[in-house]
Amino acid sequence: MKNLRGILVLLALLVSVNIVAKPKIRIIATGGTIAGVSQSSTSSSYSAGQVGIQTLIDAVPQMLYLADVSGEQLVNIGSQDMNNEVWLKLAKRINQLLNEEGYDGVVVTHGTDTMEETAYFLNLTVKSDKPVILAGSMRPSTAISADGPANLYNAVAAAVSPAVRGLGVLCCMNNQLLDAKTVIKTHTIDCDTFEGGPSGIIGYIYNGEAHILQTPNNAHTLKSEFDITNVEKLPNVGIVYGYANASPLPMQAFVDAKFDGIVLAGVGDGNFYKDVFDVAVKAQQKGIQIVRSSRCPTGPTCLNSEVDDAKYHFVASLELNPQKARVLLMLALTKTHDWNQIQELFKKY
Ligand code: ASP
Repeated sequence: MKNLRGILVLLALLVSVNIVAKPKIRIIATGGTIAGVSQSSTSSSYSAGQVGIQTLIDAVPQMLYLADVSGEQLVNIGSQDMNNEVWLKLAKRINQLLNEEGYDGVVVTHGTDTMEETAYFLNLTVKSDKPVILAGSMRPSTAISADGPANLYNAVAAAVSPAVRGLGVLCCMNNQLLDAKTVIKTHTIDCDTFEGGPSGIIGYIYNGEAHILQTPNNAHTLKSEFDITNVEKLPNVGIVYGYANASPLPMQAFVDAKFDGIVLAGVGDGNFYKDVFDVAVKAQQKGIQIVRSSRCPTGPTCLNSEVDDAKYHFVASLELNPQKARVLLMLALTKTHDWNQIQELFKKY
């Protein structure tokens, strides 16, 4: 009896100091510069994806005040080596953690090079409105003023925030929260490299709290119709870069390799060099879906502008840059090969 009273008092104490009630946050580590190691604290040369998840967690004990944090290592790679197989594994694991294992939110540590693509893929394939936050760093873990620990702390702060629920997948970098659809890496080496595109950032983290400024307006997560539960392999989609006097060879190589779709990182409003255009028209006639996007860093690729999409059955990527257009085209091709329906998906997502 005495023992029971002791246990109840202890439980009450734990609840009152908010120990048992803390949100359960899982960190899935995938590598990147946040897990990078350099020869010295001042060197700019380093290898990404070296230290493991426990080292990352141990470096930021402050986040244990915010949440019941645990972690797992999915892969340990520089995100230049990110691929479709890891994306499928990651999305399936997040769905499990949030829908079957009772986690309140997930933080993914990730390299910055392809973070925007992974974020957008997850935005379309995670089936939960709980927070999913990607965090990385531009300086390796061994650097003077490494930015990883603060980014990780902020990501956990975002993941425990009720205000972040329902916003879709976000990136948390440099105190800012950025929408998966619009976020872009804009600088090769600066810490302040991520931007939120024309609509700006979704919010920011200040004093360990998320402050939300706006809500993403595209469909995502629970409203997404893409279901990768039983998908083992994504369609093959490549990107062809546009430039003056462009060679048609890369586009032709994708056609010869029987890719399912090709995204053009076109000049201006998604325009082709004429030799590339000829190959694209034939590819589309063979059933390889062409999506026009742009190498311009800002502005949409508009439907039926200088190119007659209705005539050639091309799809315009609208607000999506080429690398995100590739993500959506792969998912779209798991559902349909009808160019009109694919264009509708580009309007929606
Ligand atoms: N190449 C690294 C990566 O993407 C760069 C970084 O994380 O900042 O993994």
